[in-house]
Amino acid sequence: MDQTFTTIIEPFRIHSVEPLRMTTAEERSFAIEQAGFNLFNLHAEDVLIDLLTDSGTGAMSRDQWAAIQHGDESYAGSPSWFRFEAAVKELFPFRHVIPTHQGRAAERILFSVVGGPGKLVPNNTHFDTTRANVEFSGAEARDLVIPEGHDAATIHPFKGNMDLGALETLLQERAATIPVVFLTITNNSGGGQPVSLANIRGVSEICRSYGVPFFLDACRFAENAWFIHEREEGQSQRDISDIVREIASLADGMTMSAKKDPFGNIGGWLALNDDDLAEKCRNMLILTEGFPTYGGLTGRDLEALAQGLKEAVQPDYLRYRIRSTAYLGDALDAAGVPVVKPIGGHAVYVDAKALLSHIPPLQYPGQALAVALYKSGGIRSCEIGTVMFGRQPDGTEAPAAMELVRLAIPRRTYTQSHIDYVIEVVTSVAKDAASLPGYRMVREPQALRHFTAQFEPIA
Ligand SMILES: *Cc1c(COP(=O)(O)O)cnc(C)c1O
Repeated sequence: MDQTFTTIIEPFRIHSVEPLRMTTAEERSFAIEQAGFNLFNLHAEDVLIDLLTDSGTGAMSRDQWAAIQHGDESYAGSPSWFRFEAAVKELFPFRHVIPTHQGRAAERILFSVVGGPGKLVPNNTHFDTTRANVEFSGAEARDLVIPEGHDAATIHPFKGNMDLGALETLLQERAATIPVVFLTITNNSGGGQPVSLANIRGVSEICRSYGVPFFLDACRFAENAWFIHEREEGQSQRDISDIVREIASLADGMTMSAKKDPFGNIGGWLALNDDDLAEKCRNMLILTEGFPTYGGLTGRDLEALAQGLKEAVQPDYLRYRIRSTAYLGDALDAAGVPVVKPIGGHAVYVDAKALLSHIPPLQYPGQALAVALYKSGGIRSCEIGTVMFGRQPDGTEAPAAMELVRLAIPRRTYTQSHIDYVIEVVTSVAKDAASLPGYRMVREPQALRHFTAQFEPIA
């Protein structure tokens, strides 16, 4: 790109548009009450800017839509499958690729085979579905992110890093009960923070010295590789795909949600080198997802993902992606809104504990802020705090390490003026934060309670 000018623009133009529906404050107030003050229960048409998640919400490219026309829906051995498998192996050359309908299906299959009571799975920070699938198998999920990763305000270039000392100590004590060590890149629940290549190498060495398999939760591998390219010594001249291949070479397998970096509206996979384990996982796949050459996906999905994987590692796209997320975060920071720093790849995380310090963790400050952003400006965000993580395996409730509200940015979907509007709404809600009420949970489901729990404000 021409380096004379510094404005980083969207490296695409708009080809097809979707209308947004405007609502009044009164309509939103009614809608959120009807939803039990849970943003997952809203009708999406009542949302103006939807930052609930970057999962499956991105805009597909012209070339992905074109690829869909090549979808071959043969039950077995479809050419779409072979194109998908080749695109995955181009970046992640694991021996076996097992397609699933989304990331959690890959997790469920893997942990139902390697998990179970008495087992322990370390991760830098487990994503919610990953933790739930580990625990559902009867195993324990343990988070071992570096101490800087627990502190919203600390600046560190790779805040998603695993605490290698803690990992080594845990393996010394319990290697025999650890079926797999996981590393989430980027660390979604910890603020979308990247993991350095040096740290990935470190995890890999420790795992190999104890003979324990090392898997990646690689949902945002391309964004993570871009941060490595930008921030890590000696990496700035490398191709993104080359960095990704090195990351893959350090691991024994991966679980993947293709709804993130690969620009899928649906999709995922499990990939691994171990032949025996792959066979057991394929048997589970056939039981619950489908035949091994389509898993939980159609031929056209496989085609869209094969093309999306190629687009995910393009430098112009990644430069824009990371810069446009930082644009939102930097503006909120400049306006005095406490955010997790440095700004992560796919989302900006507002520190609700700092902003709503008058609300105790068990009255859900993150939920309070998320509800206020919706009522005020029609923005849908996601609590990542005690609502999501407070329920303990023994049934008690405890405060989460952080009370965050995630503003996740769907890929290639919103323009800068949409984001300018978000900045205005968040800044205005933050000014009145001290007046916001806490919440109590009035209905709580057994697992993954944040999706369907209901709340009421505390007067
Ligand atoms: C989204 C996500 C998952 C789960 O994937 P789904 O496609 O939503 O099932 C797992 N890990 C991380 C880090 C994620 O972001």
